[in-house]
Amino acid sequence: MRQILVAGNWKMNLLQSQGVALSQALAAKYPSSAAVEILICPAFPYLSPIGTAVRGSAVQLGAQNLYFAPQGAFTGEVSGDMLKDVGCGWVLVGHSERRQFFGEQDELLAKKVSAGLAHGLKVIYCVGEQLADRKAGQTEAVLAKQLAGLDQVSAEQMANVVVAYEPMWAIGTGVTATTEQAQQAHVFLRGQLKSRYGEAVAAATRILYGGSVKPDNALELLSQSDVDGALVGGAALKADSFTAIIEAGIQAQTLKG
Ligand code: PEP
Repeated sequence: MRQILVAGNWKMNLLQSQGVALSQALAAKYPSSAAVEILICPAFPYLSPIGTAVRGSAVQLGAQNLYFAPQGAFTGEVSGDMLKDVGCGWVLVGHSERRQFFGEQDELLAKKVSAGLAHGLKVIYCVGEQLADRKAGQTEAVLAKQLAGLDQVSAEQMANVVVAYEPMWAIGTGVTATTEQAQQAHVFLRGQLKSRYGEAVAAATRILYGGSVKPDNALELLSQSDVDGALVGGAALKADSFTAIIEAGIQAQTLKG
């Protein structure tokens, strides 16, 4: 039975006071444990104060990126060790904005995934096709290729990896994949995980959906049998909308038994 994970990617939004207020509101709503896992990923400068705000609550802390080297002359970069040091338990790798605006490719992403895991972080590895890929019938080929980011991950390490399916045409656009499109892509990804790691790992690995998840579409998406959570951008920036999505996750978890 896979536990639903609702993760908020704050991207380059919210100043310290706003982020702390939002995280305090979430921590107050989910003070100890919750039926689903809850994660927030603020910008680097605020990881420490926000980590303090959610400490002891059910809200976990993650970063949006890391560099693969352990330390050294890499101006502007942040290591896995540093993320652990400020209280992160998670890191996003391969978000489409990293791929699109910062040219990150699967070979680099594979190193980042390995570095995250080596530093004891859980990794959310993001994949997703562009609209042109989908129109050209290339969705599955693109997803299969992007899974190369997991090439250095062993079956045992997959216990600390979550895959996020985020069609690029649905991110920040208000256009959501239909439940059928999401479920179909998730089934395909699980099949790929099965070929790579076998049945048990494929069945145990959580696959999140991301792309304009909102309170009004969350329950339907999260109720799909292969959708094991949501990676939420815009709707994670306000306590009421993020909380509504978490509550939809709790309801979906109950429905799935
Ligand atoms: C994201 O940033 O991962 C995302 C899915 O954004 P949004 O929910 O705003 O589409």
